[in-house]
Formats: sequence, structure tokens, C-alpha cells
Amino acid sequence: MHRSLGRGVRSDAPYVTDIPTRILMIRITFLGTSAAAPTLTRNLPAIALKREGDLMLFDCGEGTQRQMMRYGTGFDVRDVFFTHLHADHYLGIIGFVRTLWMAERADPMRLYCPRPTARTLEQAISLGFQDGKRFPVEIRELSDGDVVRRDGYEIRAFRVEHRMPALGYALVEPSRPGKFDPERANALGIPPGPLFGKLQHGEAITLDDGRRVEPGEVVGPPRLGRKIVVSGDTLPCPATVAAARDADLLIHEATFGEDDLERAQATFHSTAVQAAQVARAAGARRLVLTHFSNRYAQEPGLLLRQARAHFTPVEAAKDGLTIDIPLTDELAPTAATDSNTEARECGAPALD
Ligand SMILES: [Zn+2]
Ligand SMILES: [Zn+2]
Repeated sequence: MHRSLGRGVRSDAPYVTDIPTRILMIRITFLGTSAAAPTLTRNLPAIALKREGDLMLFDCGEGTQRQMMRYGTGFDVRDVFFTHLHADHYLGIIGFVRTLWMAERADPMRLYCPRPTARTLEQAISLGFQDGKRFPVEIRELSDGDVVRRDGYEIRAFRVEHRMPALGYALVEPSRPGKFDPERANALGIPPGPLFGKLQHGEAITLDDGRRVEPGEVVGPPRLGRKIVVSGDTLPCPATVAAARDADLLIHEATFGEDDLERAQATFHSTAVQAAQVARAAGARRLVLTHFSNRYAQEPGLLLRQARAHFTPVEAAKDGLTIDIPLTDELAPTAATDSNTEARECGAPALD
């Protein structure tokens, strides 16, 4: 079916260069939502994030590979970002890598961890290792402000406040081109084809009759990229607020409730209220709490109620919770209206 948009331009014509929204879904799956020790219903920390063909993990607690089977994320993990190397956050990588060795995976896997913890991770990976063919596992340390650039997005590391070197991570997409208006292009007499693509990617064109067409004549203003932030284990801290500014989703640890405020401070964790205050200060659009102490793991409703008094919308994660973050047509802020515009632009020095 070719739905007519008028003047012979069709909505499914191949030269319309707008990115199909359904393809660029970001899917987040919570694989483990317990702190320190697993419970019957909650595994140790791990979050899977899939964007197009890229599957990555944030942390990989013991038993993560089984959770990946249970919740259907697939095993084709390219990058693992460890927030820190407390045992509950990384022991799962040992078994996962071995399973992949046996499955004769060939593609490299990259493991990122806070400086200076690569040695610990290296020892864990090689634990009991016997000679044999295996795929390359690269371990790279990250520091505050480091950026890992990928095709169409980047992962920014930010230092958080925990009992050992610890990072939070922000997945950030740059603004993408504005919406192409094929009717307008048609009215201007631009022949359908490659010129449409040039205009949408910001290039002015010259028609056969010598007329010049600027992109702004047929392309709307840039649209906002997405931002998803994972706090890791941390006290509430300004670095998370800065990283989560206007985030589509903030995943923040909420190990304790208000009755355990002192304990949270002593162990460098956050309460649900503190997580909500961080989300509010950041202007995040949505908050998901995770990393629950065993005393709240059965019924995180109390944490949720405490958080809701300070921020909505907020949810308590559970193992298997899946959240889709679609592309939106929301316009990117202009420099005049938002001093944070730069925060979504991907320009920092990058690692790969
Ligand atoms: Zn933890
Ligand atoms: Zn920890």
C-alpha cells in the first residue's frame, strides 16, 4: 500500500531518509536487582541494554548468564561496563566468559572497569583457565569523564561515591536530524532521490535550474537524542545529578529505606528518598530504583512510597523488568533555551 502524501510523494518511498522509529528502540532488561546477596526472586546486579545490534551489560553479578536465558536477552554481549568490583557486581563474568568459550564465540568482548581495578578483573577472568582457543577479552580501565564512543551513541563514565573506585555510566545519543518534509521538497521541485538525503543530513543543494535549497527549507529542527543513566552503587552525589540532567531514564540504586539512613551513609549507599532527590535535581524524566537490601527485597513498596513523595514517575525494578525507550520527535533544545544543550552533543575525547 502506498499512502499518498500528495503530489506523487509516497510515505514508503525509499528515498525518505527519516530513521524508522521501530528499529532504533533501546531495550533495558533488569537481570538482577538485589544488593550484596541474591534472594529467591532477585539475582545479583546486572542490567542488559540493547540498542540496534549492540548488546551491553552494566555489571554482571553471579548467575547473570542464567538470567539472560530466562529473560531472552541473547548472549551476544559486546561490552560489559562494571560500575565497581564489589564481588556481587562482577563474579558472574567468570562463568559467562567460560560458557562463551565453550560456545566457540570468536568476536572480542570488552570489559570496562574503574581505574585501578583491571588487575582484579584480569585475575578473575583467568581463574582456573586452561590453555585452549578462546575469543579475545579486552579489559580497559575508565576514569571520570572518559567516553567510549560507539556508532550513534556514546557511553560516558562518571565518578560516583562508594567505598571503592566506582563509576556511573550515561548512554548518550547526539541530537539527530530534524524531520524531512517530502511535501515541501516536492513543492520546491526537488527531484526525489539522493538530494533528499543530502538535505536531511544538513547539506545545501543546487537544482538543475540553478536554484539553491538550504536544508532548513525542508528539514525541521534537530530532534533530541536519548540519555539513559546507571548510577551504580553510590551515595547521592552531584556527579550523578550532572550526568542525569534531563535523562530519559535514571536507574539509581536504592539499597535502603529512610529508617536505614545512617546505615546507607556508613556503607556509601543511597536511600530511596535520596535516589528520588537526585532524579528531581537532575530533571530526569523517569526513575527506576534497584539494588535493594534483602530487608526490602520482598516488598519494595515501602521504598517506592518514600521515593514518590519526592519524585514521580518512579518504579521499583524487579528481575525481568523490561523498559523500552523509543526515539521521539521531541525537538532538541536550542542554545538560547537550554544551557545544557552541549550535554547531549557527543564531542568529548573518546576511547573505543
Ligand atoms: Zn552492590
Ligand atoms: Zn558496592
